[in-house]
Amino acid sequence: MSKYVGTRMFEFVTETWNPVIGCKHYCCYCWSRRLVETRLKRIYRDFTPRLIEKRFRYRPKAGSLVFVCDMGDLFGDWVPREWITRVINFTKSFPETTFLFLTKNPARYIEFIDEFPSNVILGTTIETDRDDLYRKYHISRAPLPSERYRAMLEVKDRRPELRRFVSIEPILDFNLGTFVKWIKDVEPCMVAIGYDNYSNKLPEPPLGKTLKLIDELEKVTKVVRKTLRKAWWENSYIQAYL
Ligand code: SF4
Repeated sequence: MSKYVGTRMFEFVTETWNPVIGCKHYCCYCWSRRLVETRLKRIYRDFTPRLIEKRFRYRPKAGSLVFVCDMGDLFGDWVPREWITRVINFTKSFPETTFLFLTKNPARYIEFIDEFPSNVILGTTIETDRDDLYRKYHISRAPLPSERYRAMLEVKDRRPELRRFVSIEPILDFNLGTFVKWIKDVEPCMVAIGYDNYSNKLPEPPLGKTLKLIDELEKVTKVVRKTLRKAWWENSYIQAYL
């Protein structure tokens, strides 16, 4: 791992760049916070959002796909405008490189919508279409899935030519028809789907249902399969908790 990169979240990403780290969404499954507060504690101290000046010395390779900020949310409401503008300006300096953003607050893309160059992909995480499940299990303090969906529609409306991406990870139980419709409406260039990797005992859908979702989405976009397995409860007698 170079001093500029973090752990690799997506196989299709060639490099990861973390000019800003830290997050206040408090997702119950957050691996970044755990990593920063344990193995990487000596490097980062804690998960307080901050800009890391020396990371701007990074020089991405032409042709690479760089995942920006996998150890925080660059578009969180708490992030100063100047930090985001600096990162966007950086992406403009490397037009041969593609930069992938991923946020749980895509409404903030709107604030910068006219500033994004064509070499960025605007991504959001939408783990489910079910706001009720999100609330019931206290999944995160981030905007609800339905709010992210609506924000991505506005992004599409304002800059239809910019590529969009949806991460359905870690997947939570969903309504098949509604969820498929949401993704079709957003028209992402790619979707990544995977189960939780860290035994968080989330309200997961059964594997068969997830495979149906993948079948439907493959009709309209590229689907990257990540961790696919049975729901943690499928092998146990606890099947009726949802
Ligand atoms: S948005 Fe990402 S970095 Fe922030 S708390 Fe959630 S999982 Fe962690």
